[in-house]
Amino acid sequence: MPEQRTRQIRQGAQRPGPVVYWMHREHRARDNWALLFAQSLAMERRQPLCVAYALAPGFLEAGRRQFAFLCAGLRETAAELEEKNIPFLLRLGDPPAAIPKLARELGAAALVTDFDALRLKRGWVSDVCSDLDMDIFETDSRNIVPCWTASDKREYAARTMRPKVHRLLPDFLVEPPELLPHPVALEKLPATATWEEVDRFLASRPGPESTAFVPGGAAATRALDTFIKTRLNRYGKGRNVPTDPVVSRLSPYLHFGQISSLRVALSVLAAHADKDSKDSYLEELIVRRELSDNFCYHEPEYDSTRCFADWASTTLAEHADDPRPHLYSDEQLERGLTHDPLWNAAQAEMVRTGHMHGYMRMYWAKKILEWTESPDRAMRVCIALNDRYQLDGRDSNGYTGIAWSIGGVHDRAWKERPVFGKIRYMSFNGAKSKFRIREYIDEHLGNPQKD
Ligand SMILES: Cc1cc2nc3c(=O)[nH]c(=O)nc-3n(C[C@H](O)[C@H](O)[C@H](O)COP(=O)(O)OP(=O)(O)OC[C@H]3O[C@@H](n4cnc5c(N)ncnc54)[C@H](O)[C@@H]3O)c2cc1C
Repeated sequence: MPEQRTRQIRQGAQRPGPVVYWMHREHRARDNWALLFAQSLAMERRQPLCVAYALAPGFLEAGRRQFAFLCAGLRETAAELEEKNIPFLLRLGDPPAAIPKLARELGAAALVTDFDALRLKRGWVSDVCSDLDMDIFETDSRNIVPCWTASDKREYAARTMRPKVHRLLPDFLVEPPELLPHPVALEKLPATATWEEVDRFLASRPGPESTAFVPGGAAATRALDTFIKTRLNRYGKGRNVPTDPVVSRLSPYLHFGQISSLRVALSVLAAHADKDSKDSYLEELIVRRELSDNFCYHEPEYDSTRCFADWASTTLAEHADDPRPHLYSDEQLERGLTHDPLWNAAQAEMVRTGHMHGYMRMYWAKKILEWTESPDRAMRVCIALNDRYQLDGRDSNGYTGIAWSIGGVHDRAWKERPVFGKIRYMSFNGAKSKFRIREYIDEHLGNPQKD
């Protein structure tokens, strides 16, 4: 279904020259439909193919931990591409300036790039399109059913997205072809940044490192195999238990495109495991994840309270003046200094490891709504912390998860209560009845009695 996965976003001058794949979301050589499309175009035209990457000096709240994870993955990808006779050309600089410059140096005839639903990335792609007079194509390799094929509007909830995705899945849940050794080489390689320059760039990035995840596609494949062998069977019943995490912990790899959700889905489908667990996992990996891209693609205000449905904005406004017994500053929240040890433990998990269990993410965001003066501030704080500390932050899943928690996006109205109005509430006691919260607190905050 290439015409549904790839669309031409600019028609430009026709001339002979290399095909450039500008990689910016799907950082892998395998199972990458954009790269495969670029290769087929280059082969059809009997032209060289290369991959271009521009490492932006900053990206939203990303710091050293995220850039280090990203760059380690790129190093691995560059080596895999070289084996296929496809040069990986790296530039340090803002993509809207660096990519057209590189394309001109190469005398490129066509550009293929990744689809991304986020505003910043869409701005990059649009700037590059205005600057380059050549054919430009965009491929959605993030979603199994391409975002624009699944639906042409903002979906109301998972229940409206699900049938659309499931109807199209048989067409798109297919084994991709192998990337071939590319038969035509570039005559002259332009300058490319060295990995030493990248290391210097990383050293200048702010924030703590995280060692909880080994970066790269090979590590992602190992993590997937281990998940399938040891935890998938229990996913259905156990996915909301943060103390015995049976979840896959693949989100950093999926976020940076180091593994494709298609590969994960095909592997899960082929596994001999409990059917309910497989279905439940595929619901998160496909329906919920692709609903997030649908939301950010069709809702330009995905990171503000303006994206809330009318019922949610109304109920939150009706409770705007409710007393809030606990109010915290940005610093108190960032340092995990609230009265609630469970919340502080979740914050500590994220700050230390770059990841937070999915159940705790919901609790964490809802408490920020409870402990700030307004939903506007709650959204700002949640997004800033999520984007700064999570390896998988700055992702449509994050903006959607936060809008779900604070503004009932994709959810429905619940029993009315203070501050939250009809937005779904989560409580400390509710968490206590679900899992052994003491264990979770001890794990992430330490237990002074044990020391
Ligand atoms: C407040 C809040 C913030 C969140 N922030 C992010 C974020 O920044 N980045 C991010 O990738 N996810 C985010 N999520 C969604 C979800 O919590 C994480 O994707 C999941 O916890 C990642 O852990 P895992 O890989 O072990 O998930 P698993 O349970 O093993 O699920 C497998 C994959 O399915 C996808 N997935 C799972 N749950 C969801 C969901 N609710 N919505 C969309 N996709 C899902 C993810 O890609 C995940 O890696 C957030 C959710 C909430 C409520």
